Amino acid sequence: MTPILPGATVGVLGSGQLGRLFAIAARRMGYRVHTFSPDDDTPAGQVSDREISAPYDDLDAVRAFARDVDVVTFEFENVPGETARAAAEIRPVRPSGEVLHVVQNRIREKSFLAREGFPVTEFAAIADETGFEAAVRRIGAPAVLKTAASGYDGKGQAKIEAPGEAKAAWEAVGRRECILERFVPFEREISVVVARGLDGALADFGAIENEHRDHILDVSRAPASGDPRISAEAVKIGRAIAERLDVVGVLCIEFFVEASGRLLVNELAPRPHNSGHLTMDACVTSQFEQQLRAVCGLPLGASEYLRPAAMANVLGDLWQGGEPDWRAVCAIPEIKLHLYGKSQARPRRKMGHLTALAATADDARKAVLSAREALAPKRNARPSTQMAGARDRA
Ligand code: AMP
Repeated sequence: MTPILPGATVGVLGSGQLGRLFAIAARRMGYRVHTFSPDDDTPAGQVSDREISAPYDDLDAVRAFARDVDVVTFEFENVPGETARAAAEIRPVRPSGEVLHVVQNRIREKSFLAREGFPVTEFAAIADETGFEAAVRRIGAPAVLKTAASGYDGKGQAKIEAPGEAKAAWEAVGRRECILERFVPFEREISVVVARGLDGALADFGAIENEHRDHILDVSRAPASGDPRISAEAVKIGRAIAERLDVVGVLCIEFFVEASGRLLVNELAPRPHNSGHLTMDACVTSQFEQQLRAVCGLPLGASEYLRPAAMANVLGDLWQGGEPDWRAVCAIPEIKLHLYGKSQARPRRKMGHLTALAATADDARKAVLSAREALAPKRNARPSTQMAGARDRA
């Protein structure tokens, strides 16, 4: 198949920070980038050649967007199926709409994984109230109830500690199509980011260890701590999932690691992932460049690490006491600052991240955490006028 070479135009559905970081990687290699989303002045649009603002269900606008590009990819997996199909009538969409279809719904995703023999926690699909009661009887407690569609960063989730709490959880998620999962008393969470080329070649960044706060990724480090055999097993599973899903692009596989060392797949994301952001500073080829190479039919790059690394997210909460102290963080020479161009800082909103490289992943983790502390606005600073109240999609 003829590769799509530098000078060509890549179209991105979605316009958040993942699209922005992808666009930067693409432009660095001489590609043009067009983005499509309902918004304007977006993180991705700001660094693209063209920003198209139209609703996803404006299929004529989607087709016109596709006509102007050579290949279409996406930066968030909740792009409606009909949007991906309309783009695919005109240009290749990579990863394909079928991959999107599987991962857009937690029931389809977990059923695919279980059917293919990949390890997942016990779960039950719930269509209605009767199904919910049967699922609670079967899975028991503790358990986690999650809406089947469009949940992220812990939204649409409720933990059931004891059977008596089940009803309240069902109300809390809005009595809709759900999945009930047995709670996993995990020791650690890790992720594997796999790139798969058009020719089926695979590359990965090993196991990355993740810490969440309030259901949002807080800190990642690579390589992951713990038994290297567990990391190797996670990579093997991750690569096999990318093959079975026939992904062309990047796939992130999130795992729970139990105290026994058993791995359970929690979630898939068919795109670069927040936990892979450290690859931008730490690896020969970042996850975004791998996505570009894969969707353009180019050979994948080397994904090896230059040094161990850690990444800490910078959320809008940091703006609460005023503008963060950028000068203080820039005064720490080994810290890399990434900001996503979002003008409104809201609590829980992902505004940017920090990366550190060090002799060990532990040292890198300490360095990013102390750098993030240095960012916190000093007392008595004027409150930021940009702090807004509402939450939004990160
Ligand atoms: P998710 O939206 O599925 O990625 O879940 C967000 C976070 O909630 C995970 O990273 C875990 O920390 C926690 N979580 C989700 N599902 C489970 C589960 N079945 N058992 C224990 N913790 C869970």
